[in-house]
Amino acid sequence: MPELPEVETIKNALSKAVDKANITKVSIFNNHFRKIIPDDFARRIEGAQVMAIRRKAKYLLLELSNGLTVIWHLGMSGKVKISDFPPENLEKHDHVLIETDKGTIVFNDARRFGMLTYEETDKLDNCSLFSHIGADPFDERLDGLYLYNKLQNKKIPIKAALLDQEIVNGIGNIYASEALFDAGIRPTRPAGELSRKDCGKLLESVRRILRRAIEAGGSSIHDYRKPDGSLGYFQNMHCVYNKTGQKCPGCTCNVAQTGGIKKIVLAGRSTFYCPVKQK
Ligand SMILES: [Zn+2]
Repeated sequence: MPELPEVETIKNALSKAVDKANITKVSIFNNHFRKIIPDDFARRIEGAQVMAIRRKAKYLLLELSNGLTVIWHLGMSGKVKISDFPPENLEKHDHVLIETDKGTIVFNDARRFGMLTYEETDKLDNCSLFSHIGADPFDERLDGLYLYNKLQNKKIPIKAALLDQEIVNGIGNIYASEALFDAGIRPTRPAGELSRKDCGKLLESVRRILRRAIEAGGSSIHDYRKPDGSLGYFQNMHCVYNKTGQKCPGCTCNVAQTGGIKKIVLAGRSTFYCPVKQK
């Protein structure tokens, strides 16, 4: 599933390709997504200019000149392809084509858990899609104290709390394991037992890991590709994710004795950690 760094990478690519572009034609070949694409979607956005491209949680927002904002979610398997001209032939699962005077965007989604809709821009803040979304990891108002307060009395493992989108949004499964490793915190620790200092440290790690992943263009696992078709390379920088039995970077632990990086399942999700470094 595209996580925050992948969505941010796609946002950056869209900004480069179609910011200030005029939408000339929208073709919808299949509207059956998690939520059906509104019947008047094409008619409402054709002719508008793209004024700004933003990310809110894992939603891409294209703010248009006509007072509407396109709301776009990539679901489990959604891909964005950007080209200078409309493709001559559609590929399998190419469901929506948005043509502009600067380039063409294709929305390809094999499993169709994604979403494409619009909302009036000045009603976005009250939009039900965003009502349960916690702080963005890069929001300046988010600090160790905020996280500490949110975690009070929570008995769930800290790894599960990091995935709770109502606490902080956008930390996906890969990055939760990586951030906990970076902070030296064991994923199984009850969230409510973290000190204020731990929370500050963890937040710093979350930001460091996400920033590095965005710089690397995201993690190309489960066939995620950047909109230009190239691969992100953050998966090459993973320290613990999918590294069961291996040494963690800079680890002095004796793998023969410890068994190296451990894989466990927490709240239904694969979780990786070093039993020596993470306490
Ligand atoms: Zn280790």
